[in-house]
Amino acid sequence: NGPQKDDLQRIIELMDGFKASKALFTASRLGVFDLLQSRPELDAAQVAQEIKASVKGTQCLLDACVSLGLLRSRESSCQKRVYMNAALAQGFLLSDAPHSLGGYIQHCDQTVWPLFTHLECAVRDGTHQHEKAFGKKANDLFQDTLYNNQDIKLRFMSAMHSIAKVTGRAVATAFDLSRFKTACDLGGCTGALAHELTKAHPEMRVTVFDLPTVVEMSGRFSPQHSENRVSFLAGDFFEDELPKADLYILARILHDWPDEKVHVLLRRIADSCTSGSAVLIAETMLDGWKPHSALQSLNMLVQTEGMERRERQFADLLCQHGFGDVQVVHTRNFLDALIAFKM
Ligand code: SAM
Repeated sequence: NGPQKDDLQRIIELMDGFKASKALFTASRLGVFDLLQSRPELDAAQVAQEIKASVKGTQCLLDACVSLGLLRSRESSCQKRVYMNAALAQGFLLSDAPHSLGGYIQHCDQTVWPLFTHLECAVRDGTHQHEKAFGKKANDLFQDTLYNNQDIKLRFMSAMHSIAKVTGRAVATAFDLSRFKTACDLGGCTGALAHELTKAHPEMRVTVFDLPTVVEMSGRFSPQHSENRVSFLAGDFFEDELPKADLYILARILHDWPDEKVHVLLRRIADSCTSGSAVLIAETMLDGWKPHSALQSLNMLVQTEGMERRERQFADLLCQHGFGDVQVVHTRNFLDALIAFKM
């Protein structure tokens, strides 16, 4: 008896996953999607010439992208196979698309990919792999790995920006936040979520609090016609005084840190809160065995000192700092949202 066809197909798909990712990363890096948007219906030789690559390699890459649903292809009148973007590429892969994931794709390719090649060590040791992948000792996770090189810092900020833009509205509207007039987005990076919050809540002012090296570059990511209700403040949330606010936001922050450091941060937030203040956490949560969340937790293992968590874990951590009435919304848009109120 041979194996079940569906089972075989599934296991092969899993084994092929990394090839699909790398094909997407490579086509994005070589500018294939932007090229085919400005000049659709090119054949492989024409694409190869534009992206300065071999015809053979380009042909393989374009066909892989068609099979993955990123490109479409047809035979032209002169019997040449020509290529154009599929809807997925137009939605997410063009560098100027409103929901472009280009920044995140480059981060996955150039930072996450090398780290994942050391997954076995990460699993054995339970630690991130920056030193093995990049030869960098990481005493301070952000300063020593991502922020000590300007290009890598901008790439990381651009990655955070692209995800925050795609997920921001769902997080900003997950709960009725109308009672909160001031919010502080701790580790708010480029301010993408802060801008979504002010768009969704016309009365709200948001302070983005992040490390000085990030805040000094944040202007590059400001939307062109933004209202003046988003401001930036440079500081270290483990060391410096936190701005006063009715609502503290932790979007993809706690997954960077182990419980000990999460306790330090929550203690500091709790000390800044008054009764009725709240914490809004946006993370992908492990409940429900979603592959994306579980794989994201491996991602945090190889990259950070943290991990993804379950709703219950967040509720327990928050409860120890006087937060209760925990509510969770699964936005089904990459991130889940949790709000807890200071009792
Ligand atoms: N909240 C953003 C989002 O969801 O796109 C960015 C998340 S990113 C994973 C973590 C952010 O925390 C970065 O912007 C980083 O600079 C910031 N951060 C890390 N350590 C910090 C610290 N000690 N004080 C303030 N911000 C910090």
